[in-house]
Amino acid sequence: MSSKKTLFDKVWDSHVVEHIENGPDVLFIDRHLVHEVTSPVAFLGLKNRGIKVLHPEKTFATADHNTPTINQHLPVEDPLSANQLKALEENSAAYGISYWGLGHEKNGIVHVVGPEYGITQPGATIVCGDSHTSTHGAFGAIAFGIGTSEVEMVLATQCIMQAKPKSMRINVEGSLNRGVTPKDVALYIISQLTTSGATGYFVEYAGQVFRDMTMEGRMTVCNLSIEMGARGGMIAPDEKTFEYVKGREFSPKGAALDKAMTYWETLYTDEGAQFDKEITFDASNIEPMITFGTNPGMGIGISNDIPNANAVEGGAATYQKSLQYMNFNEGDSMMGKPIDFVFLGSCTNGRIEDFRAFTSIVKGRKKAANVTAWLVPGSHQVEAAIKNEGLLAILNEAGFELREPGCSACLAMNDDKVPAGKYAVSTSNRNFEGRQGPGSRTLLASPLVAAAAAVTGKVTDPRELMEV
Ligand code: SF4
Repeated sequence: MSSKKTLFDKVWDSHVVEHIENGPDVLFIDRHLVHEVTSPVAFLGLKNRGIKVLHPEKTFATADHNTPTINQHLPVEDPLSANQLKALEENSAAYGISYWGLGHEKNGIVHVVGPEYGITQPGATIVCGDSHTSTHGAFGAIAFGIGTSEVEMVLATQCIMQAKPKSMRINVEGSLNRGVTPKDVALYIISQLTTSGATGYFVEYAGQVFRDMTMEGRMTVCNLSIEMGARGGMIAPDEKTFEYVKGREFSPKGAALDKAMTYWETLYTDEGAQFDKEITFDASNIEPMITFGTNPGMGIGISNDIPNANAVEGGAATYQKSLQYMNFNEGDSMMGKPIDFVFLGSCTNGRIEDFRAFTSIVKGRKKAANVTAWLVPGSHQVEAAIKNEGLLAILNEAGFELREPGCSACLAMNDDKVPAGKYAVSTSNRNFEGRQGPGSRTLLASPLVAAAAAVTGKVTDPRELMEV
């Protein structure tokens, strides 16, 4: 067997506690992120069995999924949400876990605050009861979502049983075109691979495009790995990664940092290491993307027409049902389609870079009268940066308001629901039927495309509004 290892192999192998013959590996978990929705039953299981949390110092809790995004200082009205938030607060206190609840200065979406505070580190294993835990792979970590029973397992043992996935490398070479963002890169890859194209694999992203990308952009790409079926996605850490991590509250300092760096600098795929599958794309083929259907793989370049069913892999009936739900037709142009809502936020695109991009388009323009816009920062740290950088003043001048941090209309577990039949251009990660509210119709896109739609009231190519 070759001694050359992939980045994934290096991180995985260094965390195997026990290998079960013909079975899964038992992996040690460095960081366990917890939120209010998938944790109550897990904590109840611990309580019933009289078990403690083994490593409370490696466990971090934040409230995000069903928190309101206005008037967070008032009691939460929805009884289910209020109960879940109370349970997380009480469980965190009972088991000695850091809890960043509503109103806490560090509160925000779990996948936004983890990196912000240095909880997310290169070469770590990170889990959370949320599919988009793959976000943390941007730092060269193995990060993946887990179910409620696994949350309980990790709380009790700091380990998880996992079958080792196959490996896939996706290279995107060249430079991105004007107006093309990391979100477009991810939507493009999913449109090419389909939503099941990476099922059973853990993906490494490589190539010039990812080397050039900011840490925020890398997080956006890794976040969406799950939407092509992958167990997760990761990018080899480099100087940009190390600089981002250093000096944050929970990142190592002094001698601990020196020791960590010795490990972090080994985190790359060895020349000649083998992947089970490898694909290469040319960056010049990617333009601003938008989805037209009810899964993230149903995306096209914004200037293209909706494909005919016979040109699409998979069942034509499912495809047509999806178009029916969206009230679109084969051959339609997406450009010019009227929209009702715009959502800027989520763990995919709720970071400061996303607000900078959105603001660059709306600056000096006005929000379209027919559009309701929800601009929701991913955390209080992002919210503060929006204010400190002067973006809020520009947004207000253009007729937009900023809400308070949370998952918001990503999954509409709070009051931010898109009404039935209405169209939302959304920077989030899923456009499933009803994801943003029963009967809602979601068009996934980048912050630039969302901004262009917000000021024109229809699907618009952001390149038409960008300064040259
Ligand atoms: S923003 Fe959406 S995907 Fe991200 S953690 Fe919240 S609910 Fe999950």
